[in-house]
Amino acid sequence: MLTKDLFSRPYPTFSLEVFPPKTKSSVETIYTTLSGLKGLPVDFISVTYGAGGSDTQKNKTCEIASLIKQEYSIEPVAHLTCVSSTREELKATLSQLKENGIENILALRGDIPEGVEPKHDFYHANELASFIKAHYPECNLLGACYPEVHSEAKDMDQDIQNLKHKVDAGVSHLITQLFFDNSHFYYFLEKLRAAGVDTPVEAGIMPLTNLGQVQRMVGMCGASVPNELSTLVNRYADSPEDLAKAGTEYALNQIYDLIRHGVDGIHLYTMNNVALAQTVTKAVLPAMGRSL
Ligand code: FAD
Repeated sequence: MLTKDLFSRPYPTFSLEVFPPKTKSSVETIYTTLSGLKGLPVDFISVTYGAGGSDTQKNKTCEIASLIKQEYSIEPVAHLTCVSSTREELKATLSQLKENGIENILALRGDIPEGVEPKHDFYHANELASFIKAHYPECNLLGACYPEVHSEAKDMDQDIQNLKHKVDAGVSHLITQLFFDNSHFYYFLEKLRAAGVDTPVEAGIMPLTNLGQVQRMVGMCGASVPNELSTLVNRYADSPEDLAKAGTEYALNQIYDLIRHGVDGIHLYTMNNVALAQTVTKAVLPAMGRSL
């Protein structure tokens, strides 16, 4: 199933993101995560790819995506980044994805980690999208977008003009960077549609469940934290359980508001937290008018 076909239905799409374990010793944990997600009626599960990160993580993306498809009968989406790979390396990865029947690929630039040499074969995600389409034309491409503007773009207009290159290269479905304030998403979507991009956009939502996560997320993706959320974080700073509960409730309210505004889909950043994925899925699907 190609994810682009999900958007003709009369209700929003709902999907999850998982990541491969960072070290060999924790590889088993992904099997526990996937077993916990088994049976959840989600539309697809995407698997991240470590740009320039550990080879264990990189090699695991295809393996985990195949497992999701074969063992759990859920449609997988494999993330793939290009800045730290050569054309030959990416050709080999694409052959592996094709052999394993992975038909949906999230084409990303990735970021060069400190101390890692870029490979200079690719500079932007649209180049990867064209490369994938040339070598694996039947696959379906997804792309990333940024309601609060990508950190390297001058402004939203420039970011959207750049985003159009990705769509022109064959990206049929976009997923946003996480955000905590829906007004950023609505404003971005308005600008995107006005610029003539009518590709479906899934809203990326991450429930904040611990303090360290708040600091990391703000640092890594530049997501702004509205007063309401920072008040919650401060109020429950000494009570991790209450903070997790309040963070999940905050995310659910964000999602309900997005559904009321006719969102194309919700993509949940699960952080491999099974209990959280189960709680959110069981609350969100009925709110979308879908059965569990
Ligand atoms: P691009 O689309 O190339 O955009 C990057 C910057 O370049 C933007 O400022 C854009 O405006 C500009 N730009 C784009 N095209 C052009 C062009 N043709 N000419 C000039 N400027 C241009 N990272 C990982 O390492 N692994 C993952 O699995 C992963 N998954 C992600 C999933 C989602 C949903 C999102 C939102 C991000 C993910 N990332 C992941 C992070 C991502 O790799 C970074 O945000 C990266 O900085 C940008 O990637 P991109 O594909 O959006 O890049």
